[in-house]
Amino acid sequence: MDGLRRLLRIVRNRFLYAVALVLAAMAAQIPAAQQHPSVVRGPLEAIQIRPNVHVIFGAGGNVTVHTGEDGVILVDAGSTEMAPQLLDMVKAVSNKPIRLIVNTSADADHVGGNGVLAAAGTGLSPDPFAAGNQATVLAHENVLLRMSAPTGSESPFPARTWPNDTFTSRFRSLYVNDEPVQIIRQTGAHSNSDSMVLFRKSDVISVGDILDWRHFPVIDAKGGGSIQGELDALNRLLIEFVVPNIPQVLKPGRTFVVPGHGYVSDYGEVVEYRDMLTVIRDIVRDMAKKGMTLQQVITANPTKGYRGRFGADRGPWTTDMFVEAVYTGVKGSGS
Ligand SMILES: [Zn+2]
Repeated sequence: MDGLRRLLRIVRNRFLYAVALVLAAMAAQIPAAQQHPSVVRGPLEAIQIRPNVHVIFGAGGNVTVHTGEDGVILVDAGSTEMAPQLLDMVKAVSNKPIRLIVNTSADADHVGGNGVLAAAGTGLSPDPFAAGNQATVLAHENVLLRMSAPTGSESPFPARTWPNDTFTSRFRSLYVNDEPVQIIRQTGAHSNSDSMVLFRKSDVISVGDILDWRHFPVIDAKGGGSIQGELDALNRLLIEFVVPNIPQVLKPGRTFVVPGHGYVSDYGEVVEYRDMLTVIRDIVRDMAKKGMTLQQVITANPTKGYRGRFGADRGPWTTDMFVEAVYTGVKGSGS
């Protein structure tokens, strides 16, 4: 009997070993993306780009979700209208409380959900005696100035959506979820309120509307944005923060760049966007130097070659509006 039992044990162990081998072989062949299947629900979609980083699309601007033992960090909060769906999606990604929301600008499709999402969370340093404890909402000081309003006039956003923590320094660094998180001031690109958020260990950087795959970048010239600031931001990204997969281009390791709108990008794609803007800036600058008026520049079609991919004749950000912003920038800089 003992002999039979021993034999059975050997057979069973060998069988388990074989099963383990087959599973290991299968796992090795499955690409990383399939091991972390994307969560798709309702009008929003979340994809997992790192084991602890998701990006949610469809709630306004893209929303980066960083998860860990401390809780959830969000970069941007989508629009007010989509906030309930966004909150559901964040809960589907992680059951931990939202601790921190960082806004990359003061645009409605990035800050509109602040109130609803923050109210569902707990601050980074919660005060147990404080009423209405909520997640920390951190942004450059100009975000708060734009969302509130000078005394006497009505503010464009309700007070519950305003950042409750602001900064003006070049960097704000935090250590959350066992991850060094750097919030980088990049004001003067898309607007006067831009920040980028670098998750150093995960090697992901969320850059807001500095990178926008829907169309030419929105340069809010009246709100402090400029073509030179936009180019400075893209060049800084490439020089300081985004690591390409060189020399082994076939290896998957590289920095992921989460844009304000559109697909998650890498070094090569940021280069492409930067080069396009540099070419257009140079063309418009040459035309301005020749003394051409804005209308003449617009008629000369300086975005030729890129217009099919990035141009728009209708909608909130048309090619003409972009050319005007570039023209204003190169005239203003005196170059
Ligand atoms: Zn946006």
